[in-house]
Amino acid sequence: MMELLNEWRGQIHLVLHVVVPLAVAWIFFQALWKKAFSVMLTTMLVDIDHLLATPIYQPDRCSIGFHPLHTEWPILLYCILCAFPKTRLIGLGLVIHMILDAGDCMWMKQTINVLSFF
Ligand SMILES: [Zn+2]
Repeated sequence: MMELLNEWRGQIHLVLHVVVPLAVAWIFFQALWKKAFSVMLTTMLVDIDHLLATPIYQPDRCSIGFHPLHTEWPILLYCILCAFPKTRLIGLGLVIHMILDAGDCMWMKQTINVLSFF
């Protein structure tokens, strides 16, 4: 089971980048869920910093701490954006993105047991 999950890690990670913001929008922004989901999904553009890396995509590379928009100071800014109503959805989308990327890194390094979530 774990081998199969590990094999699908990349795809699961991508699906979570859609499903988690959708769930957050649905649960916490009910009447505005479509707008909330659209804004949070748009924050996926933060991965544009991958274009600066060579190779652009490397499945076993941890993006946290490597790509410029996935480092400490930008992540701190994303947290601050959550504090203001006008930027909250952008901040929330970015924070969710960073948490999912960090989770992927931990999974990759086997520092979390994914099966324990099931
Ligand atoms: Zn990312």
